[in-house]
Amino acid sequence: MKAIRRFTVRPVLPEPLRPLSELARNLRWSWHAETRDLFQSADPEHWASCGGDPVRLLGCVPPARLAELAADRRFLRRLTAAADDLRDYLTGERWYQTQPAGLPAGIAYFSPEFGITAALPQYSGGLGILAGDHLKAASDLGVPLIGVGLLYRHGYFRQSLSRDGWQQEHYPVLDPNELPVTQLREADGSPARVSLALPRGKALHARIWLAQVGRIPLLMLDSDVEENDLGERQVTDRLYGGGSEHRLLQEMLLGIGGVRAVRTYCRLTGHPGPEVFHTNEGHAGFLGLERIAELDDQGLDFDAALEAVRAGTVFTTHTPVPAGIDRFDRELVARHFGPDAELPRIDVERVLGLGMETHPGGEPNLFNMAVMGLRLAQRANGVSLLHGQVSREMFAGLWPGFGPEEVPITSVTNGVHAPTWVAPEVFRLGARQIGAQRAEDALSVGGSDRWDSVADIPDEDIWELRRELREQLVGEVRHRVAAAWRQRGAGPAELGWVDGVLDPEVLTIGFARRVPSYKRLTLMLRDRDRLMDLLLHPERPVQIVVAGKAHPADDGGKRLIQELVRFADDPRVRHRIVFLPDYGMAMAQKLYHGCDVWLNNPLRPLEACGTSGMKAALNGCLNLSVLDGWWDEWYQSDFGWAIPTADGGAPLPATVGEEADHRDEVEAAALYELLERRIAPRFYERGRAGLPDRWIEMVRRTLTLLGPKVLAGRMVREYVERLYTPAAHAHRALDASAARELAAWKARVRAGWHEVSVDHVETSCPPAERTGRSASTATAELGATLGLRVRVGLGSLGPEDVQVQAVSGRVDEEDRITDASVAALKPAGAPDADGRWVYEGPLSLDRTGPYGYTVRILPDHRLLASPAELGLVTVPPQDAGGDGAGVLLR
Ligand SMILES: *Cc1c(COP(=O)(O)O)cnc(C)c1O
Repeated sequence: MKAIRRFTVRPVLPEPLRPLSELARNLRWSWHAETRDLFQSADPEHWASCGGDPVRLLGCVPPARLAELAADRRFLRRLTAAADDLRDYLTGERWYQTQPAGLPAGIAYFSPEFGITAALPQYSGGLGILAGDHLKAASDLGVPLIGVGLLYRHGYFRQSLSRDGWQQEHYPVLDPNELPVTQLREADGSPARVSLALPRGKALHARIWLAQVGRIPLLMLDSDVEENDLGERQVTDRLYGGGSEHRLLQEMLLGIGGVRAVRTYCRLTGHPGPEVFHTNEGHAGFLGLERIAELDDQGLDFDAALEAVRAGTVFTTHTPVPAGIDRFDRELVARHFGPDAELPRIDVERVLGLGMETHPGGEPNLFNMAVMGLRLAQRANGVSLLHGQVSREMFAGLWPGFGPEEVPITSVTNGVHAPTWVAPEVFRLGARQIGAQRAEDALSVGGSDRWDSVADIPDEDIWELRRELREQLVGEVRHRVAAAWRQRGAGPAELGWVDGVLDPEVLTIGFARRVPSYKRLTLMLRDRDRLMDLLLHPERPVQIVVAGKAHPADDGGKRLIQELVRFADDPRVRHRIVFLPDYGMAMAQKLYHGCDVWLNNPLRPLEACGTSGMKAALNGCLNLSVLDGWWDEWYQSDFGWAIPTADGGAPLPATVGEEADHRDEVEAAALYELLERRIAPRFYERGRAGLPDRWIEMVRRTLTLLGPKVLAGRMVREYVERLYTPAAHAHRALDASAARELAAWKARVRAGWHEVSVDHVETSCPPAERTGRSASTATAELGATLGLRVRVGLGSLGPEDVQVQAVSGRVDEEDRITDASVAALKPAGAPDADGRWVYEGPLSLDRTGPYGYTVRILPDHRLLASPAELGLVTVPPQDAGGDGAGVLLR
């Protein structure tokens, strides 16, 4: 029978056990093993059946057991210790509090997904897990962050397989009352609400859930409230589900509603409010519009408000894959903004102007959330060195006239939250070496000095650890394979073979991630005979654990999964290769712990960073990967192996067609080769003590040298130092009058820029010989200094509005300056009778070989974060006279 209504009956904890409720509600338990151990010992059986979720556990411990615990003095002592520890963690001074003054008083961090724990399944993949790790590391460091997201009624989806290996999606209902969240309430106890205006007089209301992530509050908006019509109730139904309008409404709720939720939270708690807003990918970009509207209410016009908002905004782009960036039809966006919809006082054309792809190469009718993100943020970054470079090229059209190297997008390489991802066994081994407190600090705060003594751990301990973790993984895999087959309709009599799946002594390779085509799930199947030989090698076999979800609308991805599943179903190899359905955080943790080699074979450079290999590395797993994302940056031969890339030189590779096919062929062959000739022999070779010495040495180096780099603590410190703090300073500098001044200045500079010109360039010590090339060519000696003299026209602008620069360096075949160094020239006296200004400065020839220089004029203002910010630059015309610009010295 189906119930007509559903309640959650909350347990009443006996007085001495009250602290359990506080411990369950703060998600710090998800990265604090001692707290989890305490919950487990309260009721081991229910702990397992509740999937290790303390809130659910407290809902199912029988009253008799609670009474028993309330009288158990040993348990109560541990409970008190855990509660005290949490209080210390929440109130003590941490890294942020020891920094020099001037750091932001608050930072709001917006993300469409957050992966904090399997008990709060509000993520689909890397972006969400990264956001979760960002919050946790911010908590460990004491950074005053507020997280902002949505609470999806079904989360992402749960994956299972049909008998023939086709992905099945399930959308279980998540009742917020059974999740580790509490509702944000007004002082009078009524639920706090935010509302958005929709076209045709409708409205979208949402309540605000609060998840406490250590020291960090995470606000999650939920539209499933009775005041909403049915359609609006479903706005927060699924992560990345639905059509365009659905997505737009989700993103409006996240961005606009999110700012309103932050304001509500600050009003209710006395929080000073964020000085910096960080948007994790473009989905939350509308937050900037809401803040412009807030300033409009305070009397700033759009342009001045835009400047003030930009100053305090940080935008992180996460992918060069077009499908990863939301784009909406112009009309759809126009309909949802304006007089009878949201932000009525902002002109719709101004809204559209922020996101339209008006740049060269753009689709003029599409509104692009990444483009808006870049226009609304004065500071932007990619997520690895390589991805920073790729992003600068990809978005260079937004800064016309500037080479990619000058596009103002920097990079902060992602990191992972070690206390979440490191196996307790690894932590204990480290703690034995350096003490528990130092081990905890080393993992959360970082600082490589703390890691050095890990190098002294004896070989046999490292190998024993790896074996233990592999064995645990084998047990876990068998359990999951049996469950998966039962779900696929197999009876117990058919499943005897499952006890022989994987072998704790065999080299174990992990491959788990979402299944977009660029990640190439099935690259390993390219030559099936060769793979089979590797799996079934008589002395040096390998075994492979694979997992991953395809987006529900991606049939191509589902076909790849099916191909892999069918291969793994083959009785000849099914003991050596498995596909585990329903990849998620709970499974991921086990996988990273137990694998020996973590495989990653994306199409370079489409993996912006990748983080699973970092999590594996923290457990002593070696990486085998294409040199993409973070691995391109930190690969060393003692940390693993690089799969060579056969890229055709195109900036963004094709994922289908002949070229892609050839590339797969070459890279798959390299993968087999590495496994067969390098990796398996090293794993199975035995030294004098009967141990694989060289393998163990690689594990040791991975832990001690790579470990400190990949930490989320390192990443969050970089965000604080390189982005949040400068943004907070810029935000403070841009009070209302400075914002008006900057906006007026930009308008004046834009309007007058067409009159800016470089009229004449000459060098005081003309190079000796000339040949008849396009630009003048000459020779000069190393160490010589030329005097540059440039005549420029500034029209209505003055020297205080611009910088005139000499740009010089090595030149390539096409006379392009590479490796440029830039020097400002100085105005020499007043303008001449024609109103022309002369600028002068030295140019030292500090490099041999082909060398060139040019001059350029850029806007200059103390409140700009980058000289490219306005996308305005003037260079000499071809016939600038004198020696000409771009003089070449050979
Ligand atoms: C870390 C993680 C990811 C991201 O892995 P990539 O290497 O970035 O693809 C995805 N899903 C889960 C569950 C993870 O833990």
